Amino acid sequence: MEEELVGYCRNCEKKIFCRNGFLDGVSEGKKLLCFRCADLKETDKVE
Ligand SMILES: [Zn+2]
Repeated sequence: MEEELVGYCRNCEKKIFCRNGFLDGVSEGKKLLCFRCADLKETDKVE
């Protein structure tokens, strides 16, 4: 499996990889979030 480090979750700083073309998280513009934080953000819109 091919993994490429894309960046870090801006919320929890977890590493986010691109795995075989699939992003292991959510990107919003230049921001990256892991799936877990993206889920949390849906119910807690701070920004
Ligand atoms: Zn996170």
